[in-house]
Amino acid sequence: MKALITGISGQDGYFLSQLLLSKGYEVHGIVRRNSSMTQGTMDLLPEHIKSNIIVHYGDITDGNFLSNLLMKEKPEEMYHLAAQSFVGYSFQNALSTYDVNIGGTLNVCNAVKDASQDTRLYFAATSELFGQPRVTPQNETTLFMPRSPYAVSKLSGLWTIRTYREAYRLYMTNGILFNHESEVRGPEFVTRKITRGVAQIKNGSPDPIILGNLSAVKDWGYARDYVEGMWMMLQQDNPDDFVLGTGESHTVREFAEMAFDVIGEKIRWVGSGVNEIGLSQEGNTLVKVSREFFRPLESDNYRADYSKAKKVLKWKPETTFADLVKIMVESDLKSLN
Ligand code: NDP
Ligand code: GDP
Repeated sequence: MKALITGISGQDGYFLSQLLLSKGYEVHGIVRRNSSMTQGTMDLLPEHIKSNIIVHYGDITDGNFLSNLLMKEKPEEMYHLAAQSFVGYSFQNALSTYDVNIGGTLNVCNAVKDASQDTRLYFAATSELFGQPRVTPQNETTLFMPRSPYAVSKLSGLWTIRTYREAYRLYMTNGILFNHESEVRGPEFVTRKITRGVAQIKNGSPDPIILGNLSAVKDWGYARDYVEGMWMMLQQDNPDDFVLGTGESHTVREFAEMAFDVIGEKIRWVGSGVNEIGLSQEGNTLVKVSREFFRPLESDNYRADYSKAKKVLKWKPETTFADLVKIMVESDLKSLN
């Protein structure tokens, strides 16, 4: 079996490429060239794994590149993970987010339709589609009300997949995935920002971690569990859309508490709003709040109802919230040491 992954150099590509190789797949990945010739998370893979990945340099905004590649390789499965994936950045750079996430996804769909109709396609949709949901928990039937350029772009991707699936009878699926994190999560995402900050403080840094909305509520799982679900979505008789999440909600504040707990610090919160701070038992400032990290619109109040995936795919998350935080803090401590 041959699989092609767009966004292989990101967090999910790191886990998915390892999963597929372990299942005996021939794994191909699309990587954007950059001036330093680095390959993102692929550079973190052990050499014996990395050397088994066949890299195609290209950009998903280039439709010709994608069509030619699909025509030549005709993979049985394609995982379309490439995206401008940072919500905060999408408010400042909406057009480039749309170019990559809307235009790039359309290019992927057209390449499958025109050059490789038997390819089964997974599209990385997101819980951000729900915006600020009024119903809890959220599932495949919950109203989509996106509240960021990122979420708007992913809604376009989701409907492009649905339209192509029906119009051209192609095997295309949407994974509506809630936040999933890991030791290779991008450093600007709040979870990794916290775990890296905690590791630095443990190593003697006097600098507090500066965050935005501590009360934001998300459903955080471990990326390694979620790539299993992606694969399962492409092994069904018929293509469909699935929510993956943990069914648990936590605030950013709770994530920070849990992360400091791993290094034996019991955090104490004082003040409120932008004046809230997190103190150590000795009174040192561990966490501060800055307006800089608030978004023009928040999207939160998330809790996944993943019962459809559980019933149909037999998927469930394996890693608890506490274990996820521990994995991330311990990995950041190890890399600092
Ligand atoms: P990352 O940001 O870690 O990875 C995104 C990948 O897309 C990177 O490899 C990046 O390459 C690549 N990419 C970006 N633009 C282009 C382009 N124009 N052409 C080719 N490649 C490009 O995201 P994750 O791995 O965390 O997420 C995977 C997908 O799942 C994304 O689509 C994301 O939006 C979605 N998602 C993620 C969730 C999460 O919690 N992680 C939740 C729900 C959905 P480069 O290294 O060059 O930047
Ligand atoms: P997102 O859910 O894909 O936007 O992932 P992020 O990790 O970027 O953000 C998760 C939540 O944390 C959002 O609700 C943010 O508003 C909130 N948050 C609070 N402080 C920060 C911060 O300093 N950085 C980021 N990235 N998010 C923060």
